[in-house]
Amino acid sequence: MGVCKMSSNIERCYQCGQCTAACPMAEQEQAYKIRRFLQMEKLGLKSEEPMAIPFIFYCTTCYKCQDNCPQGVKIVDGLLSIREAAVRNGNILPAHRKIGQMLMDSGHAVPGNEDAKKRRLQLGLTEMPPTVASSEKQLNDIKILLNLSGFDQIVAEEKA
Ligand code: SF4
Ligand code: SF4
Repeated sequence: MGVCKMSSNIERCYQCGQCTAACPMAEQEQAYKIRRFLQMEKLGLKSEEPMAIPFIFYCTTCYKCQDNCPQGVKIVDGLLSIREAAVRNGNILPAHRKIGQMLMDSGHAVPGNEDAKKRRLQLGLTEMPPTVASSEKQLNDIKILLNLSGFDQIVAEEKA
């Protein structure tokens, strides 16, 4: 599916399935099988990546799988690497793209809205919290960093 940048040691996996058995997300969604995603990554099955979308984004990083692995596989690191490769291949979920764009625009994944601004003023607070959103310079600095990292390209709308 992609090149693992994190040291996830998934080559130690012998497919016992204890991770999937412990995973709360697998209880909710039958198609979510962390063991299978690790196997796909291990075998370099890049062509199967689209089949794993959106499931690889369902993981809540609760680490129950990792706690149950008899081989000490760094499962969550492995999954995060798989996600990263998928996103860099353009397989980003629309909701994640939207959140990324909001981050680019306002410096926050959840920007302040008019109602929140009004309530803050009623409480005697500044209209915006004293974070990057209230500083044009800091917001610009954040944008430069996101730009240099290529984040802006990743969250840009797909060309028709
Ligand atoms: S519990 Fe560990 S060894 Fe077993 S399938 Fe999951 S990652 Fe592989
Ligand atoms: S970290 Fe992710 S894959 Fe592991 S048990 Fe939790 S939800 Fe499942």
